[in-house]
Amino acid sequence: MDEPWNLDEYPLWHGAGPMSLLAQWGSPSKLLVRGDGCWVEDAAGRRYFDARAGICNVALGYSRRDIAEAMYQQALDLPFACAIRYERPALTTVEYAKALVARAPQGLTRVRLTHMGSASVENALLMARLFFKNCGQPEKRHILSLQGSFHGTTLMTMTASGDDQLHALYGPVPEGFHYVPKPLSRECHWCAQECACNGRCSDAIEQLICELGPENVAAFIIEPVMGSRVIVLPEGYLHKVRSLCDKYNILLIFDEVVTAFGRLGAMFAADLFGVTPDIMCLAKGITSGYATLGAVLTTERVFAGFDGPGKVHFANGSSTDGHPVACAVGLAVLEAFARENVIANAQQQGTRLKALLTENVHDNPLVAEVRGLGAYIGIELVRSDGTWAPLTILRKIRTKCEERGVLVHYTENTVILMPPLIISENEVDMVGTIVSEVLQEVARKEVALQR
Ligand code: PLP
Repeated sequence: MDEPWNLDEYPLWHGAGPMSLLAQWGSPSKLLVRGDGCWVEDAAGRRYFDARAGICNVALGYSRRDIAEAMYQQALDLPFACAIRYERPALTTVEYAKALVARAPQGLTRVRLTHMGSASVENALLMARLFFKNCGQPEKRHILSLQGSFHGTTLMTMTASGDDQLHALYGPVPEGFHYVPKPLSRECHWCAQECACNGRCSDAIEQLICELGPENVAAFIIEPVMGSRVIVLPEGYLHKVRSLCDKYNILLIFDEVVTAFGRLGAMFAADLFGVTPDIMCLAKGITSGYATLGAVLTTERVFAGFDGPGKVHFANGSSTDGHPVACAVGLAVLEAFARENVIANAQQQGTRLKALLTENVHDNPLVAEVRGLGAYIGIELVRSDGTWAPLTILRKIRTKCEERGVLVHYTENTVILMPPLIISENEVDMVGTIVSEVLQEVARKEVALQR
């Protein structure tokens, strides 16, 4: 099992790097074969604490019997019924929609089910445009988002992502997308007197809306916490965006693909921040990774915009949307959230982990900031000249953590810890200690190299 990887016998094309590097990544014994709780095990029997919860989806941990049994029973009873045509969705799919809406922020009373996060976001953007067409405002088609945001992997959702590199790689991209500068700092308070931004952050949004003409803008899509670098928006930012959307009749879309289902220490970021969007996109934690499902929740107002004389109904959907087995999982996940102390635990242990890391890395020259909310923590790395730490350093940290039995996530210049929400206090202390020690070791070597 420990012979090196042979690309000729390995047809799977995956990952974010060239497959010719496969041999450098280890051996087939690295493949994961099982998991339990917050832990996964590879083919050689090595165990790792999964501080990336799969890819921020395995909220309730691995190998849960309640979820597995719900899947098994649904597969035996009725493995499939189409939810997008024929008007005979599975009863389980309808039951899931009811349960999700009952748990959703007040006012989000209608739900379309999808099969992944990108599909949820794409569905939301199309919904916003068609809504205004149905309202007799077909020119209201432009979409706003934040620079540095990420919204998915289809062409439309990549375009909505404020990432020039993605646009350049896969363009030409569709027209009608515009990017608002990110708020300057977390401390921005939207006031001209005391804040370094001098009011520019909020002005920038309104300015862009006015430049485009509010009569041309359909939606503002935003991640309540910007996932790619765990950027927590300034206090009041989402309220401000909500009020601008109300002022100019623009639909506010929350992309809660990452932030929902307890990740930030509340069921939804909308609950945490006290701001309800017109449309909310969900995926990832919706099934805790046990199946593939997404959802787009919306209001009675938007829903009503698709029904009635002369209105085009919303037919967008894929064959496996609202899959019955995934919906059975979704029901089991909602039941587990209702029965168990998952969200309070995420908040408590996430706070402990952030405090431990903050304490341990306070004199580490590589660490610019430890930030985050709930069980979603980013450690931003910089070099001595203040520039972002390069990917080689992040990869080194990832590998060293892995050698010590902890799997971490990283993006750009940020190491991200997003463990299953069931993480225990002992596990927090173990992860916090290992990650801090690795950061210390890498920082020491970096400083030595720069001398
Ligand atoms: N939106 C956000 C904020 C995400 O982080 C992601 C994926 O990481 C997506 C959308 C796309 O979700 P999926 O990978 O399920 O298509």
